[in-house]
Amino acid sequence: MKGEAGSMRQEKPKQEERIWGSMKRTAFILGSGLLLLVAFSNSVSGQLQRFWDASGCFQQAQWERLLSTFEGKEWILYIIATILVPALLFWSFNGLLLVADTARKPNFISRYRIQVGQNEPVDTMKLRQSMRTILFNQCIISVPMVIFLYPIIKVRGDPYRRELPTFHWFLLELAIFTLINEVLFYYSHRLLHHPTLYKKIHKKHHEWTAPIGVISFYTHPIEHVASNMLPVVLGPILMGSHLSSIAVWFSLALICATVSHCGYHLPFLPSPEFHDYHHLRFNQCYGVLGVLDHLHGTDTMFKQTKAYERHRFLLGFTPLSESIPDPPKKMD
Ligand SMILES: [Zn+2]
Ligand SMILES: [Zn+2]
Repeated sequence: MKGEAGSMRQEKPKQEERIWGSMKRTAFILGSGLLLLVAFSNSVSGQLQRFWDASGCFQQAQWERLLSTFEGKEWILYIIATILVPALLFWSFNGLLLVADTARKPNFISRYRIQVGQNEPVDTMKLRQSMRTILFNQCIISVPMVIFLYPIIKVRGDPYRRELPTFHWFLLELAIFTLINEVLFYYSHRLLHHPTLYKKIHKKHHEWTAPIGVISFYTHPIEHVASNMLPVVLGPILMGSHLSSIAVWFSLALICATVSHCGYHLPFLPSPEFHDYHHLRFNQCYGVLGVLDHLHGTDTMFKQTKAYERHRFLLGFTPLSESIPDPPKKMD
């Protein structure tokens, strides 16, 4: 017994050391990641900068026209930029994906399916039931929350300032938003996998072991606020961002959430393999970028799979499931 207690005492500092070590590594990687992103935006973006400068005057003029049109009623601009534009993009993209999922049209899209044989076609009854939660989360949670944030965003910095952000500032903001989103999403998501919270809250989202695009919004309302909304809105609040940056970031966040759930590894879009694997296996790949999963070792199983080999940006039209096929199934 004595020996056991002794080894318990030794175990504890070891565990603390491990946690502290992993926190230091996290801070180091996130810090250097941020520096790299800044360096990247300074060097590689020269061409884009020139394009931005050329079109900058046009954008500035359009923005000033909008400001004078909505003078005294700027809140309308806020609603358009933070709710209508992101929602329109979300539903246009998901509309196309839903056609693919329900009607299996166009035919070629099934070649890009990650979990072969799943949702071919999708269970329309299950989809209809899920749609109620999705619309509830969007209309009854997201919209009021974004409206509620309006005075806070205005206090943090004038979102309607006449000068549009410069290209470099815009890129830096996007990098910061992405990192904040990664940290908050990873830890809130891991917390939701605690057995008690999982059973009461997160299980709903995992009913779909082979997700489709709209399932990004199929969550318990508490999860929707804590894991979907807060990690995304916190960046612009902290940075006191311009309305144009907020609109682009919200739209990007919705499109990326859709891609990561869509179930197809499509060309010229970010790879959804990582989050798809999370839905398949539950206890792997909690983050968005995967940086924190690497640091905490929550992607070790994933790294041994074909899905990991396929987890890359597809730059051609040959599906990765064909260029990196599964090993042949063993016959009994
Ligand atoms: Zn998910
Ligand atoms: Zn989960």
